[in-house]
Amino acid sequence: MPGFYPQIDIAGTPKEMGLAHGRQLRARVQQTAASLRSIVGSEIYDASWRDLQQTYAYCQQHAPALMEEIEGIAQGAEMDIRNVFMINAHLEVVSWKRMVWQAPVAVAHSAACSSHAVVTDAEVLLGWNGDDWKGWLDCGAIVRGHPAHGEPFIYFSWAGSVGRPGLGSHLALGANTLPGKHWRADGLLYNMLCRQVLEARSAEEGVEIFKTNHACSGMNYLIADEAGTLVDVEAHADGFEVLTPEDRGTRGYLLHTNCFLNPQLAGGEVDVDTTCSRLSAAQRLYREKVPVDVAGVRAVQSDHTGGVCVHREESCTVISFVAEVRSGQFHAIRGNPCEGTAQTFTLN
Ligand SMILES: [Zn+2]
Repeated sequence: MPGFYPQIDIAGTPKEMGLAHGRQLRARVQQTAASLRSIVGSEIYDASWRDLQQTYAYCQQHAPALMEEIEGIAQGAEMDIRNVFMINAHLEVVSWKRMVWQAPVAVAHSAACSSHAVVTDAEVLLGWNGDDWKGWLDCGAIVRGHPAHGEPFIYFSWAGSVGRPGLGSHLALGANTLPGKHWRADGLLYNMLCRQVLEARSAEEGVEIFKTNHACSGMNYLIADEAGTLVDVEAHADGFEVLTPEDRGTRGYLLHTNCFLNPQLAGGEVDVDTTCSRLSAAQRLYREKVPVDVAGVRAVQSDHTGGVCVHREESCTVISFVAEVRSGQFHAIRGNPCEGTAQTFTLN
C-alpha cells in the first residue's frame, strides 16, 4: 500500500528465510546499509569493526542459525555479509560510538522509544513507539516469518534485520535503549536477542534467554505473553534485572522508556517525573484510565502533553504498533501515531 512500509513473508530454513528477505527487499537493505554508514560516519563505521568482528565471532558461535539467516540476506540482496551484519548491529555500533569512540567526552543520549503492556479482560496488548532518525522512514519493513523449526513471528525493522520488537506466537515485545555504562564485544546483538524472545513460548522462557546470553550494551525488553504475564528485562553488558508490575506498583500493566528503573542499575530510587518525561506522561494517563483496547493504548502513544509521540526536527516516531497477543494481530502505523492510519497484519 502506498505510503506504508513494505511487508514481506519469509519461511523455511534460516538460509531460505534470509534469501527471501534479501531478494524481496534488495534495494531497501542496500539503502539501510548506506544510511547507517552515513548517520554513524564512515570513519567510525569502519573503526568500529575492530571490536565488532569479535561480536561477529561470538554470534557465529552462540547464534549460528541467525548468522546463516544474515548470510542469506546478504546473498539475496547482493551485498557483503559484513554490511548486513552491521545493519543488525545498528544499536551496538551507535553504542560503541558513544561509549568507546567518543569517550570520555560526555554525549547526550538522544534515542527514544516507549513500550506499554497491558492485560485487559479479553486481551494482552503490547504497544511500542519506535522513535528515531527520520531517514529510517525510508528503510523500514514489516517481516513475517514461518521458520521450519520455530515459532511464527512478525516484527518491524530496518530492512536486513533478523529481529526487532514485534509479535510472536505466544508473546509480544517492546524495547527501549538504556544508558548502559559499558560496552562489551562478546555479546549477542540486540536484533538477535529480540528474535530469540519473539520465538519464545512464554515470558518466562523469554527471560531465560538473558541467562545464557550477554548483551553488548544497555537495552530494555518489555515482554507480554498470552497468559497475561508481564516482565520487564533491563539488560546491560554485565547482566540483567527483571521488573514486574508488582515491583512498579502497577496492576495489570507495565510501562518503560529509556531510563533504568531498577534502583541498583539506576544508582538510586528513580523519580520518573524529573528524569523520564515520556514515562511520567504515560504513567499519569494509565493512572487516569487504564486502556481496555487497541484504541486506548494508541491514545497514550499519541500523547503530546509529555511527548510520548515524538516530533523533533531530525527525529520522530517512525513506527507505532499495538500487538494483540491472544488473537495474533499486529496493528502498525508508519510515522507518528497521532497522524497515521494503522495497517493490520495477522501472524498466520
Ligand atoms: Zn504526534
